[in-house]
Amino acid sequence: MAKICSGCGAQIQSSDPKRPGYVPPELLSRENVICQRCFKISHYNQLTPVTVNPDHFNNLLKKIGQEKALVVKIIDLFDFNGTMLPGFARLMRFNPVVVAVNKIDLLPRVNWGRIKEWIKRQIETLGMKPVDLVFVSGANGSGIRELLSAIRNHRQGRDVYLVGAANVGKSTLINQILNYIDQEADLKLTTSRFPGTTLDLIAIPLKDGTVLYDTPGVISGEQMTHYLSAEDLKLVLPQKPLKPKIYQLNPQQTLFFGGLARLDFIAGVRSSFVCYMADSLPIHRSKLERADRLYRRHLGGLLHPPRAQALSNWGPLEKHTFQLDESADLVIAGLGWVAFKGEKGEVTLHAPQGVKVLKRTTLI
Ligand code: GDP
Repeated sequence: MAKICSGCGAQIQSSDPKRPGYVPPELLSRENVICQRCFKISHYNQLTPVTVNPDHFNNLLKKIGQEKALVVKIIDLFDFNGTMLPGFARLMRFNPVVVAVNKIDLLPRVNWGRIKEWIKRQIETLGMKPVDLVFVSGANGSGIRELLSAIRNHRQGRDVYLVGAANVGKSTLINQILNYIDQEADLKLTTSRFPGTTLDLIAIPLKDGTVLYDTPGVISGEQMTHYLSAEDLKLVLPQKPLKPKIYQLNPQQTLFFGGLARLDFIAGVRSSFVCYMADSLPIHRSKLERADRLYRRHLGGLLHPPRAQALSNWGPLEKHTFQLDESADLVIAGLGWVAFKGEKGEVTLHAPQGVKVLKRTTLI
């Protein structure tokens, strides 16, 4: 019979550390096992990321949607469109939702008032009506106090669920919250199982008898990060404030973002393209007429990531063409965005199949 973690109720497995119920193989034979994640939370006040597939995640959201609970939805500012989670607004229509926009340390010198308005408009068009919107950084701890006070203000005795896509920075953020909670000592920290289910939730009991639940992150096929190995992922996820890289392009020029994606400036007048991507991601400029050949020859080498060892899983890129008639952001979910600063043009983006690619009004 399959073993169950006595902390969270997830089925015990030892094949994938990022999935619920992971136990190192050498501990599998023990009688009473607790998964690595529950072990860390109970011993070190620390959460590790756990991911599940979209079907499982949607079932989880459905259940939460039936609870009288406050939901904190964590969005990654760097991958705003890839981490909005389609279907969330519908499933959570009866719950009060606090939106926590994470990784704000990546944009140090911007007009936050303007960015807040931009985010509110985007969220509205997706049908969400949050009760509050807070800016946070799990990396440097800013905004944690505001987030906790938003939770206090809006929960009115209800349980709280923290929800987010994989890589939004949920575990980093929760670890900050746990530290804060610990310091303030008004909340107690233990692990317990969600009653009657195996939803892979971690329960953090609060002093007043209610519970803060951490949910697993969903692996969204729309994010670039979903297609990368752990080593390549490090080059793509920015750790330091973004330094925009500006390219003046003539029509019929191409930019390669490693070998992961590509932008062709098909038609228009000479214009600026400002790239907001991780510093560690190499960008190459070439002539459009040479671009296909360059890609065939140098994918995995000069044009990396993906690194050569990961090429066996790498399929052809898919094309998306956009007509531009004002400044706009061209987004490749999970990889970042390119701000077109011009009046008119035609651009083709190439990205792995399934990865969300879109045009939006400029963020910055
Ligand atoms: P999870 O999958 O949602 O639990 O995300 P993690 O907490 O594991 O973080 C995913 C990636 O984002 C890691 O590379 C983190 O270092 C990075 N990260 C997490 N929080 C922040 C943040 O506030 N700012 C920045 N710049 N990076 C962050």
